[in-house]
Amino acid sequence: MTRTTTPHHTDKALETRGTYGACERREPTPTPVARARTVLISGASIAGPALAHWLARYGYRPTVVESAPALRGGGFAVDFRGAAHLAVLQKMGVLEEIRRRRTGGSSMTFIDARGNHVAALPPEFAGGDVEILRSELSRVLYDHSCPTPTPHDDTTAPAAVAGTTTAYLFGDSLTSLTETADGVHVTFEHAPPRTFDLVIGADGLHSTVRRLAFGPEEDFVSHLGYYVAGWDLPHGAAPDLAAHAVGYNEPGRLVTVGRVPRRAGDPSYGGEAFCVFASERLGHDRRDPQAQREALVQAYEGAGWRTTELVGTVRDADDLYFDAISRVDAPTWSRGRIALLGDAAYGATVGGMGTGSAIVGAYVLAGELALAAGDHRRAFARYEQKLRPYVSRCQEGGRGTGAFLAPLTQEAIAARNSALNDPAALTAMLQEGQDISADISLDDYPSLVHHDTGSDRNGS
Ligand SMILES: Cc1cc2nc3c(=O)[nH]c(=O)nc-3n(C[C@H](O)[C@H](O)[C@H](O)COP(=O)(O)OP(=O)(O)OC[C@H]3O[C@@H](n4cnc5c(N)ncnc54)[C@H](O)[C@@H]3O)c2cc1C
Repeated sequence: MTRTTTPHHTDKALETRGTYGACERREPTPTPVARARTVLISGASIAGPALAHWLARYGYRPTVVESAPALRGGGFAVDFRGAAHLAVLQKMGVLEEIRRRRTGGSSMTFIDARGNHVAALPPEFAGGDVEILRSELSRVLYDHSCPTPTPHDDTTAPAAVAGTTTAYLFGDSLTSLTETADGVHVTFEHAPPRTFDLVIGADGLHSTVRRLAFGPEEDFVSHLGYYVAGWDLPHGAAPDLAAHAVGYNEPGRLVTVGRVPRRAGDPSYGGEAFCVFASERLGHDRRDPQAQREALVQAYEGAGWRTTELVGTVRDADDLYFDAISRVDAPTWSRGRIALLGDAAYGATVGGMGTGSAIVGAYVLAGELALAAGDHRRAFARYEQKLRPYVSRCQEGGRGTGAFLAPLTQEAIAARNSALNDPAALTAMLQEGQDISADISLDDYPSLVHHDTGSDRNGS
C-alpha cells in the first residue's frame, strides 16, 4: 500500500492530493525563482534527503520516493570525520543538531575466548569527529529538507530558504524511466505516472534507478568477500555483555556487543550486536529478513565465547541490517537527465565513509545544478569531475575493512591486535582516515539561483 507520510506529519495536502504528502506544496513564498525545475529523487535515507535540502534551497521542486513505508529505522552509528564533512554539515545548518544527538561513542575492547582483554579501539576510531545513529541522521536530514521544523524537533535552524519544498512519497518505487526530449517519464508501482525534469538515484547499493537506466547490478557492484550485520538486542538479552563494548574474533568472524549511551532511556533497548564475517556471495534472498537471519546464524555455527547466545538474539530482531560488504564502480554517474548519488554511484558499505561521501556528493551535485542554471549536462559532468577522485580514495580506504575487522587467520588477528596496541600505528591509521576524508576543496555555491527554464508538466 502506498503510504504518503510519516506519522508525525500531517498536511492539508494529503486530504486533497491523495498520494503525495509530508512536506509538499505549502504554497511558495515569493522568491526570485521564476519556475522551479522538478527533480525526482529515489531513496530517502541519507543522500536523498540531503540532496532535497539543497535543491529546495536553490528553488528546485524535489520529490523523494522511498520504497519503505516510512523513514527507515535500523542501522547502527555512522560517523563524520575531517574538515569536508563538517563544513558541509555546517553549511546545511545541521551540524549543531547532529552534535546534540551524538551517540557519545565508546571505545571497544577486543577479548579472547576467555574474556581477556587483547586490544582496544579508541572511540574516535569508529566514531570519527561526530557519530550519530543512522536512523537519527536520516530523520534530521528529512526534517531539514522540509520548510517547517516538525513538532518533536528541537532545532530552530531554518530548513529551506527558497520558496519550494520537498514532497515525499513513501511506500512506492519507480518501475520505469523513459527519457524524452524535455524530461523523464516515470512510472511507479502505485502512484500515477509523472514527468520530471531530472531523476536522481539515491537509492543505495541495490539502486533501482541504476538498474533501470544503467544496467544490471552485477555490472556495477563487486562483492568484497565479507558480510556485515547489525541489530538491536531485545531488552534483557545478555545484559552483562552489553554493559561494556566488546568484540570477539575467530578467523574470518567478528561479533561485537555494546550499548549506545544516548539510547539508555529507551526501555525496549538492550544494546546492539554487530557482526562481520567472511563469505563468498550467499545464495539467500537478500530481501527476505528471515533468510538473512538464517544465513547469519549459520555463518556463526560452532563459534566460541558467547557467540551462539549473542547471534541467536537475531531470531527476534525486527530491525536487522544485513548486507554484503561491497563496492560500487559505475563508469559514469549520469546518462542524459538521470544521475546517481551516494551508495548508488560510489558505495563502499562499511569503512569507506559512505555517509560522509553521500553528504558531500549531495552538496556538490546540487551546487553544480544551481550554478549551471538549468544545463544538467554541464552540471552532471562537473559533479562527477569534482567528486570522483575524492570518493575513489574513500572507497579505497574502505577496501580492507572486512579483513581488518575479521582477519582470516589467527596470525592476522594477532597482527591487527599488535597494530592497535601500538600508539604510533594507531595514530597513523586515524590520521590517514582524516586526510582522506578532508581531501576535497569545496566550492561556495550561490545561495539562490534564478531559473527561467523548466516546468512542471503535471499540472500541479
Ligand atoms: C536501513 C539501513 C541501515 C544501514 N545501516 C548502516 C550501518 O549500520 N552502517 C553503515 O556504515 N551503513 C549503513 N547503511 C548504509 C549507509 O546509510 C550508506 O552507506 C550511506 O549513508 C549512503 O547513504 P545512501 O543514502 O546513499 O544509501 P542508503 O543509506 O543505502 O539508502 C538508500 C535508500 O533508498 C531506498 N530505496 C532502495 N530501493 C528503492 C527504490 N526502488 N525506490 C525507492 N527507494 C528505494 C532504501 O530503502 C533506502 O532508504 C544503512 C542503510 C540502510 C538503508
